[in-house]
Amino acid sequence: MTTSPRSPRDFEPDAIVVGAGLAGLVATHELVLAGKKVLVLDQENRANLGGQAFWSLGGLFLVDSPEQRRMGIKDSKELALQDWWGSAQFGDSVDERGDDWGRQWARAYVDFAAGEKRDYLHELGLRSVPMVGWAERGGADPQGHGNSVPRFHLTWGTGPEVVRVFEEPVLAGEARGLVRFAFRHQVDEVIVEDGTVVGVRGSVLEPSDEVRGAASSRVVVDTFELRGPAVIVTSGGIGGNHDLVRQTWPTERMGAAPEHLISGVPAHVDGRMLAISEAAGARVVNRDRMWHYTEGIHNWDPIWPDHAIRIIPGPSSLWLDATGKRFAAPNFPGCDNLQTMREILKTGYDYSWFVTTQTVIEKEFALSGSEQNPDITEKDLRVLLRERLSKGAPTPVEKFKEHGEDFVVADTIDDLVAGMNKLSRGGAPDLDVATVEAMIVARDRELDNGFSKDAQLMLVANARRSRTDKIVRVAKPHKVLDPDHGPLIAVRLNILTRKTLGGIQTDLSSRALGADGSPVPGLYAAGEVAGFGGGGVHGHNALEGTFLGGCIFSGRAAGRAVANG
Ligand SMILES: Cc1cc2nc3c(=O)[nH]c(=O)nc-3n(C[C@H](O)[C@H](O)[C@H](O)COP(=O)(O)OP(=O)(O)OC[C@H]3O[C@@H](n4cnc5c(N)ncnc54)[C@H](O)[C@@H]3O)c2cc1C
Repeated sequence: MTTSPRSPRDFEPDAIVVGAGLAGLVATHELVLAGKKVLVLDQENRANLGGQAFWSLGGLFLVDSPEQRRMGIKDSKELALQDWWGSAQFGDSVDERGDDWGRQWARAYVDFAAGEKRDYLHELGLRSVPMVGWAERGGADPQGHGNSVPRFHLTWGTGPEVVRVFEEPVLAGEARGLVRFAFRHQVDEVIVEDGTVVGVRGSVLEPSDEVRGAASSRVVVDTFELRGPAVIVTSGGIGGNHDLVRQTWPTERMGAAPEHLISGVPAHVDGRMLAISEAAGARVVNRDRMWHYTEGIHNWDPIWPDHAIRIIPGPSSLWLDATGKRFAAPNFPGCDNLQTMREILKTGYDYSWFVTTQTVIEKEFALSGSEQNPDITEKDLRVLLRERLSKGAPTPVEKFKEHGEDFVVADTIDDLVAGMNKLSRGGAPDLDVATVEAMIVARDRELDNGFSKDAQLMLVANARRSRTDKIVRVAKPHKVLDPDHGPLIAVRLNILTRKTLGGIQTDLSSRALGADGSPVPGLYAAGEVAGFGGGGVHGHNALEGTFLGGCIFSGRAAGRAVANG
């Protein structure tokens, strides 16, 4: 074996962290607080510190927060648990004991979100935007999927700020000699001796000066073997590895995997550490649980391969399948992600359509991603007010309208449908103008009264009773064909990969569990690779804003457990 010139071998760590994303940074932060020495390995370069969290919108699930109370929202731990259980639908696991720990993590996580979470982050300097968002509103059943109330707390500064509050103390630890980073170190094996994990082996990748998020070379220039009394795996999910996504796709529950998939995550989200950890004795459960989205658009200005951006929609756009049929309740924008994906895939095509107006996109199209929300990411209040409250859609949305390959903009319904037909794929039949027009006219007629039998219009009316929605997220109901609200806009929505809900099963100390359910000595896992705790804290469906928080909660548990021996 050879050593790299920048070898971290002269460092004797108390823990080796595999993955410098959010979960790895949080675990490292906790270890540094306890005065421990940490070696952090990552296959990417230093520019990628913080992993996916940097790209995130920084939405955080909090329960009964001061921000909610100020918006007149009455939330409680009981209501949040009811929603979590309704969404998770635990117990339907293909793995015999797949949900054993997921349930315990879910209870502990809701406790955290209703208790310590806000203070923990507040003390680190993190602040939320005062308007609490309402993600995943669910179907119709209070015991089913979805948030009964708005709980999505957007970080002031989005993902980069979530990263910053942990990165800064970790970098201070580096300056004090407690933390050593080894970038471009890709772990290929977890070393087990006499049943105990004692370190990792891997490949040193050639140096890369790629910008953050860009796919980097996998050319190996060296190998390494590094030892430490604990290994914490925080390597993220599988969303950047479409082969693995397809292999584990839940065909029985969801229908066949889409032929055309785009990536909501960078290429480093490759899922390799799952099999590597499994080879070291860890139990991987709930592999078929994933949280991919239905509202993906091709990034006109991509950073990583097949770069997808998700529209986080308000409730007003008409949602049609590839054959032009309007989805039935509760498959309206922002309600029930996986249920709608099932309906999309049932058609035999892997895309669907929003048909909407300029007025709607101005208020209701939020694009997920820190770089798509420069006003909030840069914490620039003046730009924020100008972008969000003045006429016109936010600049990033307008850019997609102008350059995005999935957008059709037209003044007449004939031109709109003709444009949609040009974008059809997979052999979908041409949409018929008269049929689409009749559907829209019928819907528009329902607006002549202040009441309606249209379930989506009822949803919109309900949404506008939430203060945030009324002020910044939901357009005043109007007729789609009213030229004052034009032009008409259609958006082809593709399925994009994002989060992995299953993973390494862990106990509440983030210790990786083996085949017999007991901890694998020396091995820990946190963040997305651990299904955000327990190998599946979300069960089948997520309530949103629960992933960054899941990294924080499980990363903190891992760091504290290792620090306490
Ligand atoms: C655009 C976008 C928007 C999002 N918005 C939100 C949001 O608003 N709210 C929310 O809760 N969540 C959101 N998420 C999800 C959330 O950001 C991620 O789930 C979370 O950041 C995952 O963190 P992690 O530390 O588990 O993994 P990652 O961030 O994926 O980090 C893992 C690291 O491990 C490294 N690694 C992997 N394998 C190896 C190996 N073999 N050897 C060495 N290194 C390795 C990788 O290079 C990477 O740096 C969003 C995600 C994206 C991409």
